[in-house]
Amino acid sequence: MSSPSPNPFSSPMDLAALLAVWLRGQEAAMLACLEDWVGCESPSLDKAAVDRMSDRVAQAFAAAGHVEIQRLASSASGDGLDLFASGADPSLRELLILGHCDTVYPLGTLAHQPFRVSGHLAWGPGIMDMKAGLVSALFAWRALAAAGLRPRRGLRFLFTGDEEIGSQASRGWIEDRARRAHAALVLEPGLGLEGKLKTARKGIAGYVLRARGRAAHAGVDFESGASAIVELARRIVEISTWSDPARGISVNPGVVHGGTRSNVVAAEAEVDCDLRAWQPDDLTALDQRMRGLASADPRVSLEITGGINRPPMPRTPAIAGLFAAARELARPLGLELEECSTGGGSDGNFTAALGVPTLDGLGIAGAGAHSPDEHGRLDTWPPRTALLACLMMSL
Ligand SMILES: [Zn+2]
Repeated sequence: MSSPSPNPFSSPMDLAALLAVWLRGQEAAMLACLEDWVGCESPSLDKAAVDRMSDRVAQAFAAAGHVEIQRLASSASGDGLDLFASGADPSLRELLILGHCDTVYPLGTLAHQPFRVSGHLAWGPGIMDMKAGLVSALFAWRALAAAGLRPRRGLRFLFTGDEEIGSQASRGWIEDRARRAHAALVLEPGLGLEGKLKTARKGIAGYVLRARGRAAHAGVDFESGASAIVELARRIVEISTWSDPARGISVNPGVVHGGTRSNVVAAEAEVDCDLRAWQPDDLTALDQRMRGLASADPRVSLEITGGINRPPMPRTPAIAGLFAAARELARPLGLELEECSTGGGSDGNFTAALGVPTLDGLGIAGAGAHSPDEHGRLDTWPPRTALLACLMMSL
């Protein structure tokens, strides 16, 4: 990619065919890279481990060449990696390619959940979410380099280290780069073994609701107590009525703590809740209702902390258009792409909320994310990687 060469292929089909053939020839190398990166365990809460993984990714891109590598330091969680390859036309907005180096699996998971391949499937912790997505990014980039192709747009790869714990450190980095982006491609896995792309995601809000009442002996002095548990229970029932399956609104009181002993009126109790919605207005309304909660018992105070963590990613016309473009590019690769929506969030929520057309689920097809059964599908992986390379060239 030493000289800015325009696409020398007369049709997208020629380009797709060339990239697909090259990537088919890289299957063994892709698998070896995947095994190496799955073997580099990187739980979000272990900064040193996530940083080791980022180092490997940075080294691989450095070896591939033609990228400026910038480390984004984070004190609390894994560092970010910003890799930039300039485009042939610097006046065009960049393409942002989002991934994350962290996983949900603690160190040592490999001992009982080792990397293994059987037929067209591969298992291992973090294999689909999303070590394989990172490998795809590397090999899509290498495929373009091998073909001597340079995208019109600058490509900015942003790989973060805290996606699985809510992207607190990286949100600013993502939004900063999204503001300069023409579109965002997200390397999260495709849904199921069909590998459906994700064109809508729910937004997520999280809250801790704390009730503080008055402790008392349950036998000697019951009336002078004010139970934080009873008040909290009323509020849990109240917020649960806000769930509306038809609108895709869910309110989940997921964790409850409170009280000390059965013969003590509970002075303190708290609930940790997860609220989700497809529509930005619905999530905002939920946020306001949550903040407006009041105690029925004047002797019990309520404290509400938290807020909207990931805004919704609704399926806008621009996102639908991006999916349609990807589906056309995928056909000559032998892929019949489908789309889906999901209640799970990703860093694509942040880019979509800024109005940047976002296509998510471009990583490997697979199932069982975040579980001992996590696995990815190898036979469609090189063509999906070729699709990523085609998107880099054509968007
Ligand atoms: Zn992920």
